[in-house]
Amino acid sequence: MLRIYNTLTKEVEDFRPSEPGIVKAYFCGPTPYDHLHLGHARAFISFDFVRRYLLLRGYNVLYVQNITDIDDKIIRRARELGVDWRDVAGKYIDEYLSLLKELRIGVDLHPRVTEHIEDIIEFVKVLIEKGHAYVAPSGSVYFDITTYGDYGRLSGRRSSEEWRQEEEVLAEKRNPFDFALWKAAKPGEPSWPSPWGPGRPGWHIECSVMSSKYLGDAIDIHGGGQDLIFPHHENERAQSESYFGKSPWVRYWVHVGPLTIAGEKMSKSLGNIVRLVDAIKAWGPGVLRLWIFSAHYRRPLDYKEEALEQARSTLKKILSTYDMLSRAVKERPLEHRLGERELRVWISLSQTWREFVEAMDNDLNSSRALAALHRLLSIANAEVLTSGSSSLAFKALSVMELMDRVLGLLPPREEILKTSDQLEELIKLIVEVRSRLRAKKMYEESDWIRAELGRLGIRLADTKEGTLWFVERQAGST
Ligand SMILES: [Zn+2]
Repeated sequence: MLRIYNTLTKEVEDFRPSEPGIVKAYFCGPTPYDHLHLGHARAFISFDFVRRYLLLRGYNVLYVQNITDIDDKIIRRARELGVDWRDVAGKYIDEYLSLLKELRIGVDLHPRVTEHIEDIIEFVKVLIEKGHAYVAPSGSVYFDITTYGDYGRLSGRRSSEEWRQEEEVLAEKRNPFDFALWKAAKPGEPSWPSPWGPGRPGWHIECSVMSSKYLGDAIDIHGGGQDLIFPHHENERAQSESYFGKSPWVRYWVHVGPLTIAGEKMSKSLGNIVRLVDAIKAWGPGVLRLWIFSAHYRRPLDYKEEALEQARSTLKKILSTYDMLSRAVKERPLEHRLGERELRVWISLSQTWREFVEAMDNDLNSSRALAALHRLLSIANAEVLTSGSSSLAFKALSVMELMDRVLGLLPPREEILKTSDQLEELIKLIVEVRSRLRAKKMYEESDWIRAELGRLGIRLADTKEGTLWFVERQAGST
């Protein structure tokens, strides 16, 4: 059984979703106001491993990752650049979506705040009606944290004394730690009409609203970086549990550790960031995924070139082993029987798969799972490929492919299709050679080429405009 660490209880718990076989998961996505950096990739890729492992475990996963497309940071950036805030958000949303694709991160839904303003207003209305929120003189709406008895349990912090507050904001709140659900518009700021006057949503409310809109009032996993535990997730929890009048709203709170550089958190404010586009250019998506997989998701991951070099050499080994195993399976017929030695190797291959699953079941211990993959590679290279047994190669290949459903490293279909492009050029060349032979009336040679191509499943048809050709496809081929 899968066991996972729950930030709320501070314990590793058995994973039991609210509906058997279905996992509803929400992960806090980006605020598109600047380029993404490696820290974002660490969080998103770590959760992609969680999502993929749940799928491999047989769950139906509905995975939502929001986009905060209106926020103070976006407004500030647009002012600095002298452009419309929508252009800032649009540009970085495009970057984000294309990088997710490049990094092979799967997300079912990307709801955006600006497309859910009506839902947010309705949610805030209910919180006011229920007495959990109040309208301040400015037209801002605040959540009254004294109305929610469990405030602080997730983060272990009861108040937000650390954060700076503007005088006028502080003055209109009932308690200094109340937080904004709706922010009254200041001159020149983007705003939407509401019953409390023009304004825009506070940051935390969007995740409560969009997660419940798509996943209902019983969310199995809510995740984010550890830096979101307070105040973001603490506030989300207060709003949602007050709104639904039930607890728990989220069954498992799961948080990813920071990405550090020389021991310090990588963040824009510290100015020590490595842009994600640059990292992908330097290392490639597979190396980044493998490097992130090498550390447990809750621990800090330090950015070190040596670690990435190591991931690069491991990836090379994975790909070359995969290639050779595939060739062995393709070129040799499967055996009718296995000898005693082969049977032993077959069992040790199976064991690597069991180790992988046991490691992942234990709070997604990916570093131990990676050790199982390394063991598989050693067996494949030392015992499978040298044995000449295609049954063993087939077994090793199957285990590798299963592990890769979590890791996502083996080449995507587009890569395989690239070979087809080359093949197409090659066929065109041969057809052209045949046409030239025909032009010289060398029919014996040209007929021989036609017959040989036919034997390979490539059919030719001579027309007045030249020779057409096609490849006969077998059922199930890609
Ligand atoms: Zn969020």
